[in-house]
Amino acid sequence: MRGAGLFDRSCRTLQRILLALGMGVVPALPAQAQTILPDPVAGVEVEMGSQAGLEAWVTAFRTRALAAGVSAATFDAALRGVEFNPKVVERDRNQNEFSKTIWDYLDTAVSDDRVALGLKAIDRNQALLERIEAEFGVEKEVVAAVWGLESAYGTYRGDLPVLGSLATLAYEGRRGAFFEAELISALRIVEGGHVERFSGSWAGASGHTQFMPSSWEKFAVDFDGDGKRNLWGDDPADALASTANYLRHWGWTKGQPWGLEVKLPAEFDHEQTTERVVKPVGDWQAMGVRTVGGEDLPDHGPGSILLPGGHRGAAFLIWPNFQVIEKYNTADAYVVAIGSLSDRLAGRAGIQSGWPREFRALTLEERRALQEGLGRAGFDPGGVDGRMGPKTVAAVKAFQKARGMVPDGYPSLEVLEALR
Ligand code: CA
Repeated sequence: MRGAGLFDRSCRTLQRILLALGMGVVPALPAQAQTILPDPVAGVEVEMGSQAGLEAWVTAFRTRALAAGVSAATFDAALRGVEFNPKVVERDRNQNEFSKTIWDYLDTAVSDDRVALGLKAIDRNQALLERIEAEFGVEKEVVAAVWGLESAYGTYRGDLPVLGSLATLAYEGRRGAFFEAELISALRIVEGGHVERFSGSWAGASGHTQFMPSSWEKFAVDFDGDGKRNLWGDDPADALASTANYLRHWGWTKGQPWGLEVKLPAEFDHEQTTERVVKPVGDWQAMGVRTVGGEDLPDHGPGSILLPGGHRGAAFLIWPNFQVIEKYNTADAYVVAIGSLSDRLAGRAGIQSGWPREFRALTLEERRALQEGLGRAGFDPGGVDGRMGPKTVAAVKAFQKARGMVPDGYPSLEVLEALR
């Protein structure tokens, strides 16, 4: 699931924001789906499909769905009257246009309101969350944090018919094969009688913790014992247990922090700040890294130093649980938000350091200009696509080093200006 650079992960994830109860943002990328999404081809006009086109597609798809084990009765009942949704296609095509800085994202993702609502949600579901924690080994505050970011603790689960969104996206083409497979999974949900009809995000993620149908197939559990794996009802038991099951599957280690805010020494080698450099805590300690409060680092095994907002922002020592949260959503900002929200729900401090708020996020056009500039300067960014992937981040680091700037790899306006 990995492979994207820190900045483009934020971009891909954060631009589609839903207001949740007017109190914050919920990143709307489908859980577990976003990392396989290629970027849109910016500036290319592609003709939009139509209702008639969708219906013809459904007719052809029927054979494939039945071959995949969906019954004719389920297929016909579920997709009768399915509607082409042009808005879904627009969202799909434009999803890389906007971006947000991590600090703007965290302001709403881990707002005091979301913390307060989370504490109430934990209080209301204390026994359930404790049973889930005992059975799956995932702390209740972590499960609650995913719940809080994905659906504002169940209050905003998405209101688009999942079958219609998936059929539209499967038919419409850009990532047809992926969405067709999701649609078949969604039909299996209906076939099994787990839910009659269900709504979700434009990309087909649904339920309290925004599972894609394929993740429902692999990871959903019937925790309340009613025979259904129901992620969509008002009772969050199945959804929260499924989330814990998902995190456990990907290797969650109970008791290990996702990360810890740290302070780097003045002379720190910023080329070491990447998830790719993993060292024993003792090595970081020897290099002068301390907790943000100036204390010795706790030893939770080998970890990495991450600067999700560049060297002027908060620094974190992250452990493998960070990568487990990435299985939900690969954006650094998302993972830090889950981690920080879970810390606050557990009564620990939030992020102490400031952020370089004078930097705004680069637009898609600026990200492409940055890549072009890197190429001209002799630093291969791995293409000009607006994605701040690992090659671009490495090129930014190399450029910064050559110019005597701090090589944090952060594609800031400052770097763009230096390239112009
Ligand atoms: Ca159930």
